Amino acid sequence: SEVRALVESKLATIPDFPEPGVVFRDLTPVFADGPAFHALAEALTTPFAGRFDVLAGVEARGFLLAGAASALCGAGVLPVRKAGKLPRAVIREEYALEYGTAALEVHEGELPPGSRVLIVDDVLATGGTVDAAARLVERAGWRVAGISVAIELEALDGRARLGDRYEIRSLLQF
Ligand code: IMP
Repeated sequence: SEVRALVESKLATIPDFPEPGVVFRDLTPVFADGPAFHALAEALTTPFAGRFDVLAGVEARGFLLAGAASALCGAGVLPVRKAGKLPRAVIREEYALEYGTAALEVHEGELPPGSRVLIVDDVLATGGTVDAAARLVERAGWRVAGISVAIELEALDGRARLGDRYEIRSLLQF
């Protein structure tokens, strides 16, 4: 589509970052381009129109995407933060990194019970990050409306890891 071509034309691809053998997809030139960022933000929510109440953005690039998309569609934003940043009582989910673990947190009670939450992030790789975000949403008493990412790295099998529990959409696949 036109939107895919526009976003892909701005995307940067960096071999051997952050380590040899890894091909890093960098969205910062898309963020820096008004029309491309607008088109991407819009494309993230359009397939889920009418089926979510709030956008959950995963720190930090997911914040940019969820923030921009929320301004376009009128939904609120749930910031899914790295551990230790939120000031009130939190729900925490740990997830595996290549070395060690990390944790994501949301404030408990931030949304009304049963709220439909669309999870937004820049890249779906192994799926560990959005899987943790989805567990957080469900433990908090809300519902996962779906998962929407700009880029899906198909070789890392995130979709298989997440199974068929959620509808997953990606604008670009590599
Ligand atoms: P996962 O948990 O393995 O799916 O990794 C996804 C997380 O790592 C996302 O929050 C991304 O921001 C980040 N990530 C993984 N690969 C890339 C990449 O090629 N470019 C930018 N971010 C990436």
